[in-house]
Amino acid sequence: MAMRSTCFALLGLILFVSCGGNEKPTAAQEEFQWEVDQFADIRVLRYQIPGWEQLTLQQKQLCYYLNMAGLAGRDIMWDQNYRHNLRIRRALEAILRDYKGERKGAEWEAFETYAKQVYFSNGIHHHYSNDKHAPAFSRAWFDEALAGSGGQLPAEALEAIFNPEVDAKKVSLDASKDLVLASAVNFYGEDVNQKEVEQFYAPMEARGGVAPLSYGLNSKIVRGANGQLEERVYKVDGLYGAALSESVKWLEKAAGVAETPEQKKAIELLIQYYRTGDLKTWDDFNVTWVGDTKSSVDFILGFVEVYNDPMGKRGSYEAIVEVNDPEATRNMAVIMDNAQWFEDNSPLLPQHKKKDVVGITYRFINTVGEAGDAAPSTPVGVNLPNANWIRDSIGSKSVSLGNISDAYEKSSGSSSLEVFCHDQEEIDLAKAHGALAGKLHTALHEVVGHASGQLEPGVGETDATLKSFASTLEEGRADLVALYFIMDPKLVELGVMPSLEVGKAEYDAYIRNGLLVQLRRIKPGKDIEESHMRNRMWVSAWTYEKGMADSVIVKVYRNGETYYDIRDYDKLRVLFGDLLREVQRIKSQGDYEAGRALVENYGVKVDQALHAEVLKRAEKIKTAPYAGFIQPEMEAVTDANGNVTEVKVSYPTDFLGQMLRYADRYSFLPDEN
Ligand code: ZN
Repeated sequence: MAMRSTCFALLGLILFVSCGGNEKPTAAQEEFQWEVDQFADIRVLRYQIPGWEQLTLQQKQLCYYLNMAGLAGRDIMWDQNYRHNLRIRRALEAILRDYKGERKGAEWEAFETYAKQVYFSNGIHHHYSNDKHAPAFSRAWFDEALAGSGGQLPAEALEAIFNPEVDAKKVSLDASKDLVLASAVNFYGEDVNQKEVEQFYAPMEARGGVAPLSYGLNSKIVRGANGQLEERVYKVDGLYGAALSESVKWLEKAAGVAETPEQKKAIELLIQYYRTGDLKTWDDFNVTWVGDTKSSVDFILGFVEVYNDPMGKRGSYEAIVEVNDPEATRNMAVIMDNAQWFEDNSPLLPQHKKKDVVGITYRFINTVGEAGDAAPSTPVGVNLPNANWIRDSIGSKSVSLGNISDAYEKSSGSSSLEVFCHDQEEIDLAKAHGALAGKLHTALHEVVGHASGQLEPGVGETDATLKSFASTLEEGRADLVALYFIMDPKLVELGVMPSLEVGKAEYDAYIRNGLLVQLRRIKPGKDIEESHMRNRMWVSAWTYEKGMADSVIVKVYRNGETYYDIRDYDKLRVLFGDLLREVQRIKSQGDYEAGRALVENYGVKVDQALHAEVLKRAEKIKTAPYAGFIQPEMEAVTDANGNVTEVKVSYPTDFLGQMLRYADRYSFLPDEN
């Protein structure tokens, strides 16, 4: 199974627009407040649901029921992230609600910031760096505030908040350590180690077959009474049962208003999967879901992405409900229609090219609601399902989240261009073509990138062969496909971009981000851990080094500041192609050592002096490096018989207020699970 299929925007660097972006904003959009809060390294934004009023009542009902089903599982993500998260969140909520003391001053403000950080990351570890948040209020103040608010926490949870040494890293990808023991994420019992987990799954994965199951996707692994490892499966009468049974209740209503027979069947299979935890049913669900291409309303629900598991097996709880944007979809459909041309003309070795690129469905959608892994921090593009055998033999669905991209663009403040671009030409190129370049990169990455290439016969699923490097290698591979084709005249011929200048803007942006801008997200002295950041680094650093002799990319020092200037875009394209061929070979042959060397030599270590310089330069940029969203809220109007006659949508502006409402309405799990 599992590639890293959720793709994030390069925030603050490339701005995405929906395909309707050329149109003038409506009055409602002009007045809409896109950004509502900023704290620590975070901006909180809002998004709109265009066209909501034009949906039929049935479609609105479907959105509402699916959204409720998604929110019902919200606590699961908190518990998956860390075993003390739910009780810590409830302690914070007690203080936020009932604190009788002064709600101002340094201690309160530090507390409020910490609470917002925890809410933003669904737990006490940063959503991107995986480092634990550091509270800036005193323990004495907190103890008193908590007691005065009627809350309490066991000593171990208090230690988790205040002692920086305890469970410092949510997900550790440091291959020199035991990945399972070094990660605080709650997918494994505290005394379970990496070797045992590998031994547990080896016999199942060795069985393989034409349709291998996604072993370990929906369970926590613990030591049983006899000392042997066993899975605690996420299901209605198992782990997280209280949340899943609530979700099932809403899914049953959703099945009753499904738009197509395929969609109805898919929802019913999802219900069955939540009830039984059977991974075969999960595959059946995905096959049916991929086949439902006619519905306007669609959804992503379940235990999906495996980024949060250092072993790349366990899926984080995720919910996205979406509505198709038919006009924007038509504009980009040409990329989907030419998928086989891209495969045939890619620089891959012949034996690694797909002969028949099957069933990629690409759509521009508008997000209606998100929860779990997808909120408040959200992807801008998603390509599912993750099981390779389904992607190869049935196909996949790929979406760009148009209204989310739109909100990023509308809210963008001062840009990083002036600070990090080498010259005015680069700035002008970015301003003229950056938005379209970003949109095309996302489309090529999702539709052509993740769907391209094939494994050699007998090579197992990538997560088993490439282990903790599988995610970053897959994301880098998809990026390289996008980079290779965004400088191809074919895109001009297809009418999706006006000239190769768009490709040049993308090359500038990618190198600038990979080697400079993204370093502002890392704390001094730290390595790069997050998979997407790693791949942007190793793709950039490898091509920089390989092109050095030909001055393809030149490093320029000016007034004590470092810049990278691309001098030969065509040769850079050739280098991207060379690296793509090699990364595909690594994946197709399951060459762990080569994959590891590539990532560790080019994508992990940060030059300390350059890092310090980037952090200093970044102080000039006022926009926080990470952003996420307050969700629209739905309210159902019912008649005397309890039938939903209308669904109203509102757009709240208070982040903490929404979090407290969620705590009242959608919290179904106990502190400990
Ligand atoms: Zn991706």
